[in-house]
Amino acid sequence: MRQARPDILLDIVRLVGRADRILLMCHVDPDGDAIGAILGLGLALARLNKHVVTASPNRVPSRYSFLPGVEGITTHPAGDFDLFISLDCSDAQRLKHLHALVTAANRSLLINIDHHVTNVNFGQINWVDAQAAATAEMIIQLVDALGVTIDQELALPLLTGIVTDTRGFHTPNTGAPQLQAASRLIDAGVSLADVMERTLNVRPYTMIRLWGKMLDTAILEGRIVWAVLTPQMQVAGLSYENGDGGFINLLTSTREADVGVLFHDKGNGHVEVGFRSKPGISIAEVALRLGGGGHAQAAGCTLNGSLVEVQQTVLAVLREAISDQKPIYG
Ligand code: 5GP
Ligand code: MN
Repeated sequence: MRQARPDILLDIVRLVGRADRILLMCHVDPDGDAIGAILGLGLALARLNKHVVTASPNRVPSRYSFLPGVEGITTHPAGDFDLFISLDCSDAQRLKHLHALVTAANRSLLINIDHHVTNVNFGQINWVDAQAAATAEMIIQLVDALGVTIDQELALPLLTGIVTDTRGFHTPNTGAPQLQAASRLIDAGVSLADVMERTLNVRPYTMIRLWGKMLDTAILEGRIVWAVLTPQMQVAGLSYENGDGGFINLLTSTREADVGVLFHDKGNGHVEVGFRSKPGISIAEVALRLGGGGHAQAAGCTLNGSLVEVQQTVLAVLREAISDQKPIYG
């Protein structure tokens, strides 16, 4: 398996060794990797008898409730902490109100562990590995460095992180290291089929109905296919907070398109924009330029303005950004 720079790992192990109360935090609207990374590292630190609190800026989606410990993830952590660790988060703004806890603490030491190519190195210690397909994959190395054994309990959240961020080993950043990491976690006793089924292959009927509405808005314009999600597209029984349920991946499977975009009008003057691209096309830089971030094939940003304004701005920037990029599978 690829090794992290040992000096950074040793620094992190040393800082963890000195700390007693540790807050693990992840990005807003946490995904399987963010949740898997905080639960996996949280478990390892608890085994070292650290007082660990796990936190997310907002609620964890219910499909991750099969992960032990998920009920302990809080949105409002209480108490004092002598070490803060941010996981799977590319900038301080994505920690939302949790970042204020870091700045309010007297001796605020923040370790930033992430795999987003757009990470802005906002910690005092920044371990950013854009080659890693998931933050959970990096956590395996950290847990090894901490001398904690990866058993079934620890392997489950970590495999969840790798499976969800690679969309079931579909993304082009899935290679031998990711399969070796997964193989090790499966060897520890986790069922790959179980994790795949629970995280990637099920969604409520209400979400299927919402997908129908979103599909109806899909427009193919040159090499870009885009769709919208608005507050008016309500489905009875489905909370608007549930997001798109992974719809953007379906949208981006459009053969004629190189990029898929979902405009999610939050109804409060903000529009969340999700990007996916075909292998060979990178949309990370576009997202970063628009104030967001992400990976080559999956990125996002949030813009202020009306849906129409945001669509015009984003599509113009995107068209220009992909004009000199070609997909691998044309
Ligand atoms: P998704 O479309 O699944 O929400 O996000 C795809 C990727 O883009 C994820 O890695 C996510 O962290 C990143 N991303 C999405 N929205 C934003 C954003 O507003 N800011 C930043 N920095 N990254 C984002
Ligand atoms: Mn991730």
